[in-house]
Amino acid sequence: MEPTKHVPHLVQPLDRRAFLGISLGSAAGLAAATAFSPAIARARQPVGAMPEKPGRTAHNVIFMVADGMSFGTLSLAEIASRAQHATGTNWVALWGREGAKRSVMRTASADSLVTDSSAGSSAWGGGVHINNDAVNFAPDGRLPVPILVHAAQNGKATGLVTTTRVTHATPAGFVANCPTRNSEDEIARQILDRRVDVVLGGGSKYFPDSLLATRPDLRVLRTRAAFDAEMNGMGDPASGPLLGVFQPSHCLYECERNEIDPSLSDMALMALRRLSSGKNGFVLQIEGGRVDHAAHANDAGTMVGEQLAFDRALGTVLQWMQNRDDTLLIVTTDHGNANPGLTLYGPETYKGIERLCSVRHSFEWIFEQLGMKLQYDDVTGRNKLSEEDRVGSVVREATGIQLVPDEIAAFVGSLKGKRPQLFEPMSRSSSILGSCLANHYGVGFISPNHTADFVEVTAIGPGSERIAPFIDNIDLHEVMLGALDLRPARAI
Ligand SMILES: [Zn+2]
Repeated sequence: MEPTKHVPHLVQPLDRRAFLGISLGSAAGLAAATAFSPAIARARQPVGAMPEKPGRTAHNVIFMVADGMSFGTLSLAEIASRAQHATGTNWVALWGREGAKRSVMRTASADSLVTDSSAGSSAWGGGVHINNDAVNFAPDGRLPVPILVHAAQNGKATGLVTTTRVTHATPAGFVANCPTRNSEDEIARQILDRRVDVVLGGGSKYFPDSLLATRPDLRVLRTRAAFDAEMNGMGDPASGPLLGVFQPSHCLYECERNEIDPSLSDMALMALRRLSSGKNGFVLQIEGGRVDHAAHANDAGTMVGEQLAFDRALGTVLQWMQNRDDTLLIVTTDHGNANPGLTLYGPETYKGIERLCSVRHSFEWIFEQLGMKLQYDDVTGRNKLSEEDRVGSVVREATGIQLVPDEIAAFVGSLKGKRPQLFEPMSRSSSILGSCLANHYGVGFISPNHTADFVEVTAIGPGSERIAPFIDNIDLHEVMLGALDLRPARAI
């Protein structure tokens, strides 16, 4: 590919030690240290020493993300796959492969034990802990060089494939620098300016003609037919960089896709074919981005469908990797979400999974049919009972916590047989629906939010030996740099 050009002047190379040194040493750094002391505390207490040995080098790196995947989601996908097809998932099967490496990863960001996706992806992409909502943009204004930019400086081809908008947080973390993930116009501009070779997913609304006019060399695909034509070799394979955006916003959920969009697996295969046609190797991120959305909605059936679609993309990648020993594959998630789990007993559990595998529509669709937008802030069911001082004081005496009147009323109601939602976030209407369906699926959720749970990392291929049994998310940045043996990033 062409070397990276037109990258904003504000990008500066930054390594992890330099970043922390500056944060602690300067006057500005002192202010920043106050602002994000949790990150500094973590930096002083490394979780797991990464092996010092040099390790093998890789021609290519494929980084796969099932966004917002609690371990319970992976478990449910495995159970559902066995129930439906009598075979398990590609992910779990990978654990048994010779040379496969497994690790457990913590996911906290600079300002929160519970990360969001932009800070999570930036930790991998830029190697620095930043605050939630930012994209490779440290609290003191410094900007780590994202791995796709760094790889391109070394002549590698680069790619982003996702089921979300391609300007969304997880793809952005590998290529962009932005104070907020919400600046998707700016992220779209950076994706084009930084000359990512293959970009496939949703989000066409962020690529207006005026922006595309700045990149006349870019081949743009907008429909399934155009995608298929390209895949079938009707397009010119040497025609340069490729942008495929198939929905104005996110791609449709797998249960509603109906061949309207290309699948994640199809998009992954196209990216692999295009990127591997060069001789310098590539770095590719592939994201199953809507596992996260369905988990936020506590929509168990849709969530498992998204996870299984991600797993099919993993199968495609593993097939492409067959008989190759030049590619490092990392499969993981940026954080847990809602921590789902199958939690009823007995023969009904089988019935519940069967029901889970049969969903035809998402909660998003249900809310649309009801003339409502699925939002996470429409609190319902708040009973207004009078305060009961005796109950409040007993709880306070036992726990030191003063319950608010609504909580006391809900607790008293539960003693009388009512079924209130005691954990406030679970009062959202999507969570109420998820809780109702939990009686039929047997799958419950703890919240509609991300969680701080440690997460699964599976890797195979050259460089995977650098991964320790327990790691921090920023360690995977070093793993990729080490495997690719890149020259240090330079200012652009
Ligand atoms: Zn999320």
